[in-house]
Amino acid sequence: MWREIPQRYRLEGAVCKNCNFSFFPPRTICPNCGSKELNLQNFSQSGKVLSYTVIRKPPSDFETCEPYPVALIELLEGVKVICQLTDCDVDEISIGMPVEAVFRKVREDGEDGVVHYAIKFRPLTRDGNLSKK
Ligand SMILES: [Zn+2]
Repeated sequence: MWREIPQRYRLEGAVCKNCNFSFFPPRTICPNCGSKELNLQNFSQSGKVLSYTVIRKPPSDFETCEPYPVALIELLEGVKVICQLTDCDVDEISIGMPVEAVFRKVREDGEDGVVHYAIKFRPLTRDGNLSKK
C-alpha cells in the first residue's frame, strides 16, 4: 500500500522510450507496443473531461451513498485517465470542462491507522488558477 502512495500523490505515469506513448498509472510494459523501456514521468494535474457517467450504486465501502460522477479525462499530455469527479454537481459537468487533480482521503482504517488516498478531479476554478505544486 505504501509503495502506491507516491505515484498517486504525484500523478506519476510513464512514457515509452520506444514509441513515445504516455500512460497512467505506470506499468512495467508499454500497453501500446509492449516495450519495457519506460521513463517515469510526472504528468500535469490538469486536463479536460472527454466523457462522463454517473454511478448510482456505489460500492458499500465508499464514504458516500450519493450518486457520484466518473469521467474519462484527458490530461494536457494527452494521457487519458478514468477518475471520479468531486466538488461539483452532476448538472455542472460538461464535455470539454477543464478539471484539475486533487488528492483526497478515501477512508481511514481504524487500528493500523492506514489512510487510503485517491486522486479525484474537480472543475478548474473559474478564474483559471491552477494549483501547481
Ligand atoms: Zn511503447
